[in-house]
Amino acid sequence: MRKPAQTVWPKGIRAAVAITFDVDAETMWLARNPENANRPVLLSMGRYESQIAIPRILDILARNRVPGSFFVPGWVAERYPQIVRDLHHRGHEVGHHGYLHEWPIRIQSREEEVEIFKKGTAVLQEVLGRRPVGYRAPIWEFTPHTVEILVEQGFTYSSNMMDEELPYRHRIGGRETDLVELPVHWLLDDAAHFNYSFGPPPSCRMTDPDLVLSTWKREFNGYYQEGKCFVLTMHPQVIGRPSRAQILEELIRYIRKQPGVWFARLDQIADYWRAREETGCGIPAGGRAGTAPTQGTPTGRRKRR
Ligand SMILES: [Zn+2]
Repeated sequence: MRKPAQTVWPKGIRAAVAITFDVDAETMWLARNPENANRPVLLSMGRYESQIAIPRILDILARNRVPGSFFVPGWVAERYPQIVRDLHHRGHEVGHHGYLHEWPIRIQSREEEVEIFKKGTAVLQEVLGRRPVGYRAPIWEFTPHTVEILVEQGFTYSSNMMDEELPYRHRIGGRETDLVELPVHWLLDDAAHFNYSFGPPPSCRMTDPDLVLSTWKREFNGYYQEGKCFVLTMHPQVIGRPSRAQILEELIRYIRKQPGVWFARLDQIADYWRAREETGCGIPAGGRAGTAPTQGTPTGRRKRR
């Protein structure tokens, strides 16, 4: 197997892997159309997330000693605070995902967007006693103001862009900011393969789980060969069905068999990236590759990569 052209990870690490979840629950449907509030069966698909899917996923992560990054809308944290606290106490990360999963393409003004950020942060702070540091945008869209607002509100990273396979710093007006981007892609999103509803709007995908597992393995192989940062994005109500939860576990076990893989939360990878830029040799926040997360991350003065 050919070596990565440039090693950007700590000694002994070939590629970073982040297992991430957007915990939309009922807001996945309420944000699509407010009239969905009158559709109890549709909303029950969101409720499945809290009752069945999240416990199933947490078992998989625990069995395989893998940390996760979970992005939770404020509305969901208000209704299911115990789930959010449980995620945190198990060593997983809880990030910002709007308040009611507001679609950025419908936000009318910068002021409205600032208020949504503040509202979502306030709920997570109330539930967890700490502010979120990471942001995953609903439907993976920004407004022209989003990066500026993230920097102003002290977020350390975003995980939304699709232009790279390694982390990088966001820039505003040509000036580099402290905000690290951890890129994603629809191909590595479960909803693009599996999300099904009669609508409105309709969403009709029921892909064979084995086909998705094969696709995700191939994507991972490419990231691994080139020493990249593999970010898998899932939704508990989508990936948490039995046949799909099985492929998540199979994928994790497949990845774990490869030497030199660093399973980490996104906040740990973002902190590593900044430390690396300062010293040229940051250390992984979670200790050795493939271990469960620990607290504490390298920090320090920043320089350009
Ligand atoms: Zn979402």
